[in-house]
Amino acid sequence: MTYDKNNIFAKILRGEIPCKKIYENKFVLSFHDISPQKKIHALIIPKGEYIDLDDFIKNATEKEILEFFRGLTHVAKLLKVSSIDGGYRSLANIGKNGGQEVPHLHFHIFGGEKIGKMVS
Ligand code: 5GP
Repeated sequence: MTYDKNNIFAKILRGEIPCKKIYENKFVLSFHDISPQKKIHALIIPKGEYIDLDDFIKNATEKEILEFFRGLTHVAKLLKVSSIDGGYRSLANIGKNGGQEVPHLHFHIFGGEKIGKMVS
C-alpha cells in the first residue's frame, strides 16, 4: 500500500484544510477531532508520510518515533488529562479490521471523563 497524499490529514498538514490546533513542532501536529467521542478527543499525527503504526515503526527514524510519543504525552499534559490529572486513553486504529478511516498514522487521545469499556 502506498501513502495517499490526498488523505484528509495530509491536507491538514499542508494547511489546505483547517484544524483546531493544540500543539505543533518539527515532528508532530496535534488537533481536536472534528467529531469528538468524549469530552476531550484529540488526535496527534507525525509530519512524515506514514500510513499506520506498522509503516511508522518500519520506516521512521528513531528520532521521529521518540518525538511522536513524547509529543503524545506532551499533548496529554497540555490538555490536563495526564495521569496526575485523572488519566486518558490513547489508541491507534490500524488497517481495515482496526477500523482505521484516515490512512495517515494518528493516535487518538480521549479524556476529560471516564472513558469506559476498552473495546465495544
Ligand atoms: P480513525 O477511524 O481513522 O482512527 O479516525 C479518524 C478520525 O479522524 C475520526 O475520529 C474522525 O472524526 C477524524 N476526522 C476525520 N476527518 C477529520 C477532519 O477533517 N478534521 C479533524 N479534525 N478530524 C477529522
